[in-house]
Order: sequence, then structure tokens, then C-alpha cells
Amino acid sequence: MDNATITRPTVLILLGPPGAGKGTQARMLEEDFGLVQLSTGDLLRAAVAAGTEAGQQAKAVMEAGGLVSDDIVLAILKDRMAEPDTARGVILDGFPRTAGQAEALDGLLDGAGMKVTSVISLEVDDAAMIARVAGRHTCAGCGEGYHDAFKLPATAGVCDRCGGTAFKRRADDNAETAGARLTAYHAQTAPLIAYYEGRGVLERIDAMDDIAAVRDSLSRIVQTVTR
Ligand code: AMP
Repeated sequence: MDNATITRPTVLILLGPPGAGKGTQARMLEEDFGLVQLSTGDLLRAAVAAGTEAGQQAKAVMEAGGLVSDDIVLAILKDRMAEPDTARGVILDGFPRTAGQAEALDGLLDGAGMKVTSVISLEVDDAAMIARVAGRHTCAGCGEGYHDAFKLPATAGVCDRCGGTAFKRRADDNAETAGARLTAYHAQTAPLIAYYEGRGVLERIDAMDDIAAVRDSLSRIVQTVTR
């Protein structure tokens, strides 16, 4: 994909429950289109690891599979959006997750002369999501994603991408917490599908397909909406 095809600031939102493939696909879009992946989950995990005040407040909520308060998430997002690498465009992965966050995002983008380019809903079956989440892990070195059943490295224990041999699993990627995260998604995030549909910026993708097929569908949408 030729990065030069994107000529104006692009804001893509990937919507979908935990395990839908938002992170995996956002990383691919980053490679394919030169956009910057912005995952509030990653930013919050970094804040927890760094022991910041926001991180300390978020930790227990994240471990229980609930949603961190809008105030904390918005402050973290705003700081990240102020960094210059986001000027060309971002792929928001895991944000917005509430109506309040969606409204705040509009305000933030407005101030920067930007708006939401497209919202892509990754549509999946709930039951399959728990299995997907429970088996996943990432390379500790480069962050490449793997899954015990669906995507193992070509050589056991060696990352395909960077050759690293250490892997990690998220504390909240277990069946019980995944269930709570799914419940939070349906209660607070899924209503955003109708919200963005009403604004005429929603696209839907069958995300039960394999990773490569979903990547193709997404690429087609991104090419169209950034034209
Ligand atoms: P994720 O990596 O997107 O699955 O997020 C992991 C956890 O971080 C979620 O279960 C929430 O506790 C928290 N989190 C991430 N993004 C948000 C958000 N936009 N609003 C509230 N909580 C969030």
C-alpha cells in the first residue's frame, strides 16, 4: 500500500468487543497506511506499569474488566494526541468506549480542525470472543500478537517478527474477566454503533473471518474513505 495515498488527516475508529481483532488490525493499518495506532488500553497499561496516579486509579478497574473513568481516559488520550506523530492521522483502538468519550473526541478533534473519518465496527460472535481472548499473548520485544490455537509462531517459542523468545499475557485475558469486559462492551460501547451510523460514518466488517481477510476488507474501506 502506498502511504502517499493518504493526503489529509485521518481519524479511524475501530469498534468491537474484546478479542474482535482491533489491536491486530490497527497494527497492520499502521504498517499499510502510515497511520499511528492509538490504543487507550496500551496507554493505560503503560500508566499502570509506570505507577502514575492515573495508573494506580485504573489498575483495579482494569483487572475487574470494567471501564476506567472517562476523566482518566480522556486525559491520557489528550496527551497522546498532542504528540506530533499523530498529526497525519490515527487509528483509535479501544476508544471511544462510552457516549461521553465519543462527544469529548468530537470536541478534541474540532479544536485541531479534524473530524472522525470513518468508524469500522468489527462484528463477531460473543461466544467465540472469550476463546479468542483467553488464548492470546504477545511478543515481549516487539508486541506481535499470537494465539495458542489460532496463530502460533512458525518456530515454537520464537517471534516471527523480531526473533524474540519472551512472550507475555495480559492479566485481564482470562475467561472470567473477558466475560466482564464483554458485558461492559454491550452496555456502554455497542450503542456507539448506532450513534456513528446516524452520522453516516459507520462501516461494518465480518470479523469472524481470518486475519488476512479482515485486513483486506479494512484496507479497501480505508482506501475509499481517505481518497
Ligand atoms: P483494551 O486493551 O482495549 O482491551 O483495554 C483494556 C482495559 O483498559 C479495558 O478492559 C478497560 O478497563 C480499560 N480501557 C481501555 N480503553 C478504555 C476506554 N476507552 N475507556 C474506559 N476504559 C478503557
